[in-house]
Amino acid sequence: MSSCKVIEQVVDKGLCIGCGLCVSACGNDTLKMELSDHGFLEPRHVNSCGSSCKGNCLSVCPFNPEPDDDVRTETELANTFLNDSKKQSDSIGKYINTYAGFSNEHRANSSSGGIATFTLIELLKRKEIDYVISVKEGASQNAHYEYAISSTEQELLQGAKTRYYPVTLAGVFDKVKELEGNFAIVGVPCFIKSIRLAQKVEPILKSKIKFLVGIICGGVKSTFFTEYLASKTGVSVSEYSKPEFRIKDENSSASDYSFGCLDKNSQQNTIKMKMVGDMWGTGLFKSNACDFCDDVSVELADISLGDAWIEPYRSEGLGTNVIVTRSQLAEDIICKGIETNKLTIEELPVDRFIESQRGGFNHRHNGLGFRINKRRSKGLSVPPKRFEDDNLTFLLKLIHLMRMKVRKKSLVVWKRTKNAEQFDKEMRFSLNVLKKLTKLNQYQKRYSESGAIKALVMRKVNKVLK
Ligand SMILES: Cc1cc2nc3c(=O)[nH]c(=O)nc-3n(C[C@H](O)[C@H](O)[C@H](O)COP(=O)(O)OP(=O)(O)OC[C@H]3O[C@@H](n4cnc5c(N)ncnc54)[C@H](O)[C@@H]3O)c2cc1C
Repeated sequence: MSSCKVIEQVVDKGLCIGCGLCVSACGNDTLKMELSDHGFLEPRHVNSCGSSCKGNCLSVCPFNPEPDDDVRTETELANTFLNDSKKQSDSIGKYINTYAGFSNEHRANSSSGGIATFTLIELLKRKEIDYVISVKEGASQNAHYEYAISSTEQELLQGAKTRYYPVTLAGVFDKVKELEGNFAIVGVPCFIKSIRLAQKVEPILKSKIKFLVGIICGGVKSTFFTEYLASKTGVSVSEYSKPEFRIKDENSSASDYSFGCLDKNSQQNTIKMKMVGDMWGTGLFKSNACDFCDDVSVELADISLGDAWIEPYRSEGLGTNVIVTRSQLAEDIICKGIETNKLTIEELPVDRFIESQRGGFNHRHNGLGFRINKRRSKGLSVPPKRFEDDNLTFLLKLIHLMRMKVRKKSLVVWKRTKNAEQFDKEMRFSLNVLKKLTKLNQYQKRYSESGAIKALVMRKVNKVLK
């Protein structure tokens, strides 16, 4: 079988994120999405590419190692697609305004403040769009969640809440061209980038996809993440169903949410995520591609939404969104929502927005250069990135190295054990080392910030000099 560019240059090099737009862009039916050994969706080459191949699979890939100059990074793409945004930030890209708040109606049944659900319903009500492509419960046991189309408010409400589960746009994305009418699509940063790239390749997609809702993402997780959490609740990985990732506790804080799933008797088993440990900062079960993404705030979406992980919002168990508007339509929806008392929202200065995603910026921007150098030292290419400086302290380098090791090891160990107790036992040492290094770094930062280390050094120097 002749070679396929996206398989050769992205999938085989460990940079596929599973968006599936290569499958739609191919046009020759040569690619098919399948679950990998490590629980990620990836394209497989099932037919010969043939002489008519234009290499579109690679052109729409968000991790294409050699993109054209006009689509080099999110910055160039934003200049094409986000003409209403007049403000610009190195950290969050082009934007109109930043906010924090929630939808009075949809907050309780959403992951965070319900602004994603509110915005999509408003778009339908205003007839800006006819269809929404969002993530809903899957039809089979093999896919607990998948992208699906909604055209009514009722259908759309089934797609509220975030699912930390691999999903793909392959298949459903073809409907954009097949169906008459306009679309909104919800996605994490790399998916939104691939949609923008597809819009560049095919102008019809630019006219039919009217709005993109960006979901801020701390990393795409393998199916192993869900299996592990199910096992932590005491349900075996072969018997769990209907995983729920964000069960809120309105009497506690926003971060004090639970995971839940049904056992074989349809009884719900839950576990507080704080009992499970740090699932995000450690890199457990995360896709390798995420370590080479520098888009923290979904810079190419019309509206970007995340959790407000800062006070006073963090203390509210029902959840609060941070919001970035980047198109006039998004800004109008938010302003109208405030005016009509459908939204409880206040403006949030950009530095506070950045603070709400501090972990994401530290990892994706500050630590990226180190990971790029590591990858290049193995002779592997990296797509163009905007944060390539590697000026981490020795301690931080160790932390990033350890995160990379933990990520990789978690996939290997879970594939073999499929049991939370055994997994925890085998991961304990690596996770403890990472935890200790992280603690040490926090101490070092605190002391250097307070000038204590400087004072201590000066005292020692003075003593020697005397
Ligand atoms: C993998 C992942 C990682 C995340 N990491 C962070 C993070 O590090 N920091 C942070 O602040 N926020 C993160 N979030 C976003 C956060 O969990 C909320 O989704 C976001 O604040 C929107 O909340 P909401 O209440 O407005 O959404 P809701 O009104 O509940 O609507 C959620 C929307 O997201 C769609 N959706 C669900 N799952 C997915 C998925 N896997 N991919 C794409 N769309 C999906 C739903 O269909 C729905 O339209 C992450 C989300 C995901 C999916």
